Amino acid sequence: MRWLMGGQVYDVSTGSFRTADIGIAHGRIATVGSGARREHADDTIDATGLWLLPGLIDCHVHLTLPTDAGDPAASANRSDAAITLYAAGAAARTLHAGITTVRDVGGWNYVEMAVRDAVDSGSIPGPRMFLAGRLLSITTSTVEYYPGMYEVADGVDAVRAAARRQLAKGADLIKVMATGAMLSSETEDSRAIQFTLEELRAAVEIAHDNHKHVAAHCHALRGIENAVEAGVDSIEHCTFADDAVLRKMAAAGTTLVPTVCAGELLFRDPAAIASMPPHLLTRMAEFNDLHIDAIRRAHQLGVAIAMGTDAGTPGNHHGLNAEECVLLSLKAGLSPQESIRTATVNAARLLRQADHLGALDEGKHADIIGMCENPLDDITALTRVALVIKAGEVARDERGA
Ligand SMILES: [Zn+2]
Repeated sequence: MRWLMGGQVYDVSTGSFRTADIGIAHGRIATVGSGARREHADDTIDATGLWLLPGLIDCHVHLTLPTDAGDPAASANRSDAAITLYAAGAAARTLHAGITTVRDVGGWNYVEMAVRDAVDSGSIPGPRMFLAGRLLSITTSTVEYYPGMYEVADGVDAVRAAARRQLAKGADLIKVMATGAMLSSETEDSRAIQFTLEELRAAVEIAHDNHKHVAAHCHALRGIENAVEAGVDSIEHCTFADDAVLRKMAAAGTTLVPTVCAGELLFRDPAAIASMPPHLLTRMAEFNDLHIDAIRRAHQLGVAIAMGTDAGTPGNHHGLNAEECVLLSLKAGLSPQESIRTATVNAARLLRQADHLGALDEGKHADIIGMCENPLDDITALTRVALVIKAGEVARDERGA
């Protein structure tokens, strides 16, 4: 048994800390409470002065996308070998920032699956990874930007076959493009509908029949309506949502994954901005405030929010993921407790991992992060993690540094 002694342990259900010791065995939390006896501990970590949270979960990343390249056309023809090495580095930076689990909603020629296998076997550092494989899309000119990420499928039968291909490759979920994208070709419109309601239903049918979930990329209002109607599990971005569709999401239990970082972190990075084609920069600037307003209204109307950054977009660097929690709190009106919930219990529920992840409770995976400051007093503390433990193993330790 390994003991994490004397830390302030966060209870996500009450939103409060208490001093407690955490006993870890076989990668899981064996016990939480007082009375852990040092003399019985064969391995003890002193957590005095640390504020301990469950490892954070990011439900929207692209580990294979290079964040310093503002022009997708310039990085469309990277070799799979180069992409694999890049993704391995991105995985390490993500874990070291306290993100112990990610959901990748659009990989590249399935190289991310090799990265996942290397992480799971312990040969390289990285978070737990839930993967979509290629994202499903209609025929669109944006495929030229992301040839390794897009799986084109037009029509219900083609969508079924494409979803099955992702599952056969080892996908944990299916990602569908319900509307156009922002970081897309000059002729693509983020307010255009892409998959029809029938095509979305086909993807949901195949995923749910296989006990997998569906993430739907949505900007346009009618695309959000179609995705909710089709029964998807999460709406990504949700930019042009009105209150009526947000109420439908709340009633249906559809989770919103905001990705506020995609706009906000881009505008903090002059190099990424400078390398970006004008049409992309214009769109990102035009819709950023409107997007944040939609997230604020969603929260007020009771929509469940799960943290997701879109890490991989320009300036949205792997390892800055916890900034999303900061932005949700400071810009979208969530309390620090609510913001922490998005990256813990809410995210675990979306991943269908509520029994294993998202809380510091007996029986859960021992994925634990520690900070020297109380994140309830200052939510930016989440971006300054001193201790990262994944499955009971220390991945980063800067206590006292
Ligand atoms: Zn994305």
